[in-house]
Amino acid sequence: AKRTGRNCTRYFLQTMNQELDERLRIESALRVALSAGHLQLHFQPKVHLQNLQLAGVEALLRWTDAQLGPVAPDVFIPIAEECGLINALDAWVLESACRQLAAWHEAGVAVPNVAVNVSALRFFQDDVAAHVGQLLERYQLAASQLTLEITERLLLDNAPQARSQLQALDVMGVRLSVDDFGTGYSSLSYLKQLPVSELKLDKSFVRDLETDADDRALSQAVISIGRALNLSVVAEGVETTAQYHVLRDLGCEVAQGYFFARPMAAADLPNWMAQSSPD
Ligand code: C2E
Ligand code: CA
Ligand code: CA
Ligand code: CA
Repeated sequence: AKRTGRNCTRYFLQTMNQELDERLRIESALRVALSAGHLQLHFQPKVHLQNLQLAGVEALLRWTDAQLGPVAPDVFIPIAEECGLINALDAWVLESACRQLAAWHEAGVAVPNVAVNVSALRFFQDDVAAHVGQLLERYQLAASQLTLEITERLLLDNAPQARSQLQALDVMGVRLSVDDFGTGYSSLSYLKQLPVSELKLDKSFVRDLETDADDRALSQAVISIGRALNLSVVAEGVETTAQYHVLRDLGCEVAQGYFFARPMAAADLPNWMAQSSPD
């Protein structure tokens, strides 16, 4: 028994070491990628369900490392948050997204809004509002053309440092969107205290919309909350015609998902817009 125990421990330590190794490899490769300009943004359309017009795009990080291959944001974002790289990463995303929006406008491509994911951590370590102010100035953008997607956690904690930045952003006219709405916490009271403009209905509610009455009821509830509080609701992860129809019939106004478009390189967006526009 003693022997097995020792083997177990050794196996456990080996696995831990391998995981640590993998994290460290990702961390150091990510540092290099960020400073060498090897990260990319892709953009996914958010679409008005009534007329399929473009409501805006969400910027999503993409990274392919020479050795590691493509690494998913769900893998490297948590590592970046742990090792302190997330501020620099999110700052790079914010500036690149603003620069891209200005470039589209310059080229006559009518993209009404760009949304950027901002880690909650950044609100505690950086002056996000000041950074946004500088970027709007630098790229000559209207504040209403920028959306920051943040998590429920940040709103629920209601920490003074984060709250004052959110209020400053709201005063500027920047839109704030609650990402993965409904997955984290049960309290809704923050919605009346904090300056939110948009709720993103999490894709876990959308996936089984055709077959699961509970998911339909929850989606309906989120859409009603949105309507009652005058917030726009964006459904995520729409993959099928049936999901699209259910959401439209429930009165959801905007949606995002592979059914409409996958995240794509900036250069591909004008083509997508030309093909998807009804006229
Ligand atoms: P998220 O913000 O909830 O982004 C939506 C995710 O759903 C994206 O995954 C997107 O590619 C994916 N998606 C879009 N349409 C569909 C669909 O129809 N079906 C399914 N199954 N998935 C769909 P992605 O790009 O892998 O990003 C994963 C997460 O990583 C994001 O979730 C976000 O939390 C985080 N992330 C991505 N880029 C950034 C960034 O620049 N900064 C920060 N802080 N986080 C980021
Ligand atoms: Ca998001
Ligand atoms: Ca989401
Ligand atoms: Ca997410």
